[in-house]
Amino acid sequence: MATMAGSLQIAATRPCITYSRKMFTSVPTVSGLETKGFTHVKLGSSSCISSVQPLFQSFKPAALNISNGVTRAMAGESEKSGPSGLPIDLRGKRAFIAGVADDNGYGWAIAKALAAAGAEILVGTWVPALNIFETSLRRGKFDESRVLPDGSLMEITKVYALDAVYDTPEDVPEDVKTNKRYAGSSNWTVKEVAECVKNDFGTIDILVHSLANGPEVTKPLLETSRKGYLAAISASSYSYVSLLKHFLPIMNPGGASISLTYIASERTIPGYGGGMSSAKAALESDTRVLAFEAGRAGKIRVNTISAGPLGSRAAKAIGFIEKMINYSYTNAPLQKELTADEVGSAAAFLVSPLASAITGSVVYVDNGLNTMGLASDSPSLTL
Ligand code: NAD
Repeated sequence: MATMAGSLQIAATRPCITYSRKMFTSVPTVSGLETKGFTHVKLGSSSCISSVQPLFQSFKPAALNISNGVTRAMAGESEKSGPSGLPIDLRGKRAFIAGVADDNGYGWAIAKALAAAGAEILVGTWVPALNIFETSLRRGKFDESRVLPDGSLMEITKVYALDAVYDTPEDVPEDVKTNKRYAGSSNWTVKEVAECVKNDFGTIDILVHSLANGPEVTKPLLETSRKGYLAAISASSYSYVSLLKHFLPIMNPGGASISLTYIASERTIPGYGGGMSSAKAALESDTRVLAFEAGRAGKIRVNTISAGPLGSRAAKAIGFIEKMINYSYTNAPLQKELTADEVGSAAAFLVSPLASAITGSVVYVDNGLNTMGLASDSPSLTL
């Protein structure tokens, strides 16, 4: 079990890379996206930014220092004298994080933040990705990104095979059962995983859903098949309902659960297709209903984090994540890189006692991009 001196005091110390707006000059800025069959809006080049300077010249981004993605404890007096102030303390808590298969995504960053705050970490890894994840862990491939603020390595007590699209063994079709990527693992339906965790550990305190899948995500909604749409909802929304339903009986009262959503649920993001925008809308609506039901049934809080764009493995499959990151950097109120660790820190807060009155909420961790009604780099602003 990873331990830290009882607190996760996240600081904005970003000593590793000097980062400036220049990093993006060779990348086209996006004022819209083009997807197969649908021309939405054209891509602009970075020169558009200078063309809008008269209107926005007072909003020039400053050169920024950003970290290499490692959450750091706040340096200074508090470190020497131990935790003080208002620390996030998850010592004695056990977390199950569904949707960790490498060290690039939000699930990994959340696991690290919870571990840094003292929680014990269990993860659920998608069956087809299990072998490579476990092998990489064993061989030390993730050791650099396992480093916690106190210098220790995040320990994952146990990795469970999981396919959150199936609730019970009876739901699994024959072709999946016999698929060679699944044949080597067992007990990976949601109900079975919850039973295994119960047998192994008895209870958990924190449940994190950090997974999504939309087989037709690159297709516009008008071109999405019924099968593709329902698959997106099944993997990305109902999977959360199912996980909470099966884990709730083993969650200690006062526990908390979070999922990850995206602004495409409430604003149109051309290119985020295949029913994924619908799936995120369902996830957010379910967050409110589940907060009521799990709150009443087990004193469990339920929230979702609407995260800004991150170049994770899943996001790269969508095909334009770098442009979305660039767009966010250019147009968000905070002109800085959004790190996975910032989402991890917000997650650690939300599942901690410090957030004891927050439930049923969509919490934005996106440098404020969701608040904007205008793309400040739009060429139209020069007119
Ligand atoms: P990721 O690749 O790290 O995580 C997605 C995970 O889902 C992977 O580990 C994958 O193996 C797993 N998965 C897919 N289908 C599964 C199934 N049937 N059963 C179990 N696991 C399954 O990518 P990420 O971007 O960090 O995604 C995590 C969450 O964050 C998702 O809900 C995603 O929609 C959300 N999110 C991502 C971004 C972004 O820009 N990356 C922005 C907002 C929200």
